Amino acid sequence: MKKRRTPIKIKEVYTLVDLRTWSEATRNIAPPIRLGILGDPVVHSLSPQMQNAALKHCKIELQYARFQILPNELGEAIELIRNLEFVGINLTVPHKIAALECVAELDEDAKHIGALNTIKIDGQKLRGFNTDGRGFSRAIREEFSVDLRDLRVLVLGGGGAARAIALQCAKENCERLVLANRTFDKAKKLAHDLLDFFAGPKVFGPVPRLQAIPLEEPAVRFQIGHVDLIVNATPIGLNRADSSPIPARLLAPHLMIYDTIYSCERTPFVSAAIEAGARGANGLSMLLHQGALAFEIWFQREVPLEVMRKALGGS
Ligand code: NAP
Repeated sequence: MKKRRTPIKIKEVYTLVDLRTWSEATRNIAPPIRLGILGDPVVHSLSPQMQNAALKHCKIELQYARFQILPNELGEAIELIRNLEFVGINLTVPHKIAALECVAELDEDAKHIGALNTIKIDGQKLRGFNTDGRGFSRAIREEFSVDLRDLRVLVLGGGGAARAIALQCAKENCERLVLANRTFDKAKKLAHDLLDFFAGPKVFGPVPRLQAIPLEEPAVRFQIGHVDLIVNATPIGLNRADSSPIPARLLAPHLMIYDTIYSCERTPFVSAAIEAGARGANGLSMLLHQGALAFEIWFQREVPLEVMRKALGGS
């Protein structure tokens, strides 16, 4: 009688070396790995648990894995993946901008933001998408039962996440958008890129509809009475020792605070919100919705959102 082999569990993280020797590295793994996230670091990514739960629920016989890929390895990694019959991949820090070079086609959001977080592999053709902005919008509606179009928003940060969030706010015609970044020039450039969205009058009052400010206490303090939602799109809060990106003393009870960071339930920013009597939510809901949108792109089918949410520990 033939002896049955015990199936091998997928590794926590794969590398470029594994991709170079893929059939050897994934021998006996079933269902096969045909999706994944590329990042550096990537070991803490929660994407595999939500995507694998969705795949299993939909009876799609594929698995999703993490790939630890250094910046100088990205081109080769994507080229290998293209030839290994993958369905698609996600990109996280620091690959979201560099990956632009690797794809043949970009959706409107990725073009406008200048970064992508999702690739779909159609035969040999790589198509790039950015689902962060739409994921953010869904997260805000879910967390605070309000649409971006009814909000005055202050975004902290000027990198890929901030650009995606700011563009989404602009596309949804939010009441007001204030961009605050440590490197002030980047905030000014982002505001300039979004000018056309804010041509029409909406808010009558002493403050402009679209404004860039430095990420400094006096400038932020002035804005508090003129915004409803503050979004942290900086990495401040990722480390345990980090403090809130804005001191709790600046916050007020009328505010909604959204932290794109989800390393723990009460990030320093969410804690500061609670301390100030404001409402706060961490970035798990954005992670969920950007992932659900990626799943939709890959499989063109309804997403088992509640299954994915549960896999992330939500209810
Ligand atoms: P990024 O492109 O590297 O941009 C980071 C931004 O944060 C830059 O504008 C930088 O300012 C600013 N910054 C960094 N350290 C700072 C500090 N110590 N003080 C003040 N500002 C600082 O990163 P990203 O891709 O936009 O990601 C930002 C965060 O969003 C990450 O923490 C990530 O976890 C989170 N994110 C979450 C989701 C989700 O689904 N929940 C999705 C995407 C991203 P300068 O311009 O001055 O350098």
